[in-house]
Amino acid sequence: MSERNFTLSIAAQPLTRLTEFDPEDEYRPEPEPEALPPAWLDGSTRIGIHTSIAGGHRNAPETARKLGCNALQIFSANPRQWQGGSARIPEVDAAAFRARRAELGLGPLVIHANYLINLASPQPMLRVRSIQAFHDEIVRGMSLGADFLVVHPGTRGEATCAQAVATVIESVKQASKRASLGGMRILLENTAGMGTCLSSRLEEMAEVLAGLNGFPVDVCLDTAHLFASGYDIRTEEGLASTIGQIENTIGLERVPVMHINDSKIPLGGRVDRHEHIGEGKIGAEAFRRILQHPRLSATPPEGLAGRVFIAETPIDDPGDDRKNVAALWELAGLKDIAPVAEKGFSMLTAALKKKMDVQRAVDKRNAAVAARREAEEVRKKSEERSLHFAGRLLRRSEAEKQMRRPASVGMTGVAGGGNGAKVAATATNPAKGASTAKRAAATKPVARTKRLATGKRVAMAKKGKKVSGASGKRKRG
Ligand SMILES: [Zn+2]
Ligand SMILES: [Zn+2]
Repeated sequence: MSERNFTLSIAAQPLTRLTEFDPEDEYRPEPEPEALPPAWLDGSTRIGIHTSIAGGHRNAPETARKLGCNALQIFSANPRQWQGGSARIPEVDAAAFRARRAELGLGPLVIHANYLINLASPQPMLRVRSIQAFHDEIVRGMSLGADFLVVHPGTRGEATCAQAVATVIESVKQASKRASLGGMRILLENTAGMGTCLSSRLEEMAEVLAGLNGFPVDVCLDTAHLFASGYDIRTEEGLASTIGQIENTIGLERVPVMHINDSKIPLGGRVDRHEHIGEGKIGAEAFRRILQHPRLSATPPEGLAGRVFIAETPIDDPGDDRKNVAALWELAGLKDIAPVAEKGFSMLTAALKKKMDVQRAVDKRNAAVAARREAEEVRKKSEERSLHFAGRLLRRSEAEKQMRRPASVGMTGVAGGGNGAKVAATATNPAKGASTAKRAAATKPVARTKRLATGKRVAMAKKGKKVSGASGKRKRG
């Protein structure tokens, strides 16, 4: 009985049907889930401050959190030194940094490039060095998982603006060659327009962007630089006009990072000096308008998701950093939902301030000593020069005496020129000039006689006199 049942059960499951292919049974793997956009792109307001990497990169995220930030900007290395040797960050440190940043949900991460980099330099040596250093910035930025790398385009020196724009374009292309940028974008920062600094005009920035079409390059705008270069963002109309100009040149969608700094310098002063938020020439009301402007916000559709406001304000006293971050949240109208800062925390501790004050005093003293030394050098050189001239005058007048002609002709002639006038005045000054001339005569008596003895010298003196006699003036001086 049982055996028969067994046979029947086999017959009920014919093996042939099991191997037959049914398209319905095909294994279809789930499509790779699309990478979730990072949390900082969720349309929320992002506020950070330039954060120190003292003691190692991994400390920076913690510092940003303690200051009440949800984003941060850092240097990836010493910003005022060319990196010698390996410019890389050890992977252990980079990994620790990335992990801590992710845990704290900080973003975006902005890296500010070295200040020595000059991508516009007309000097080949400096330019090559800058391209190499900027390439290293890209590599370090990638290893830290940065979202943006901000760089000042540089100064053009003797070159024309058009040449400098072309140079920057070429430099950025070369620096990003063979560097995989991943999702990181390079941001050119506008400048205050000091000296021959590039990028104080939005039109000029648009030209550079046009030349880098297809490269991951956008713009970072600094409020202090805008203001110092003549964009009046202090008033409501001025801000509206500036936003209009941004739209007409680079486009607001290409400004994912804004440096929010007040300015010690008045409108159009063309000097780069940052001030605490609300305490400079731009003022708190203007920052309230800027931070709450829908077009400048991080909320689409009017704003740009992920846009961040980064303060680069001075830290004169412990706590200034925390206060400036708090001021940004308050002026943005988000004081109540801002991340909580750690009470009393500052990147500048009382001990560090004391150390810096001492250093500043030493620097000041050294600078004063150097200035005194330089002034002394200048004084010595000018004295040597006047001795030299006085000597020449003396030689000429003696040559004239030898030829039994009145010396006054030569003297009048010399007095005609710019410098000559001064020298002649010195030479005839009975108190100082006479002694100077005497000293000069005493130092080179042999040479003088020798020279005077040659016919050539006398002939020259004669010729000189003829010229001066004819015109009454000589152009040399
Ligand atoms: Zn800046
Ligand atoms: Zn600046």
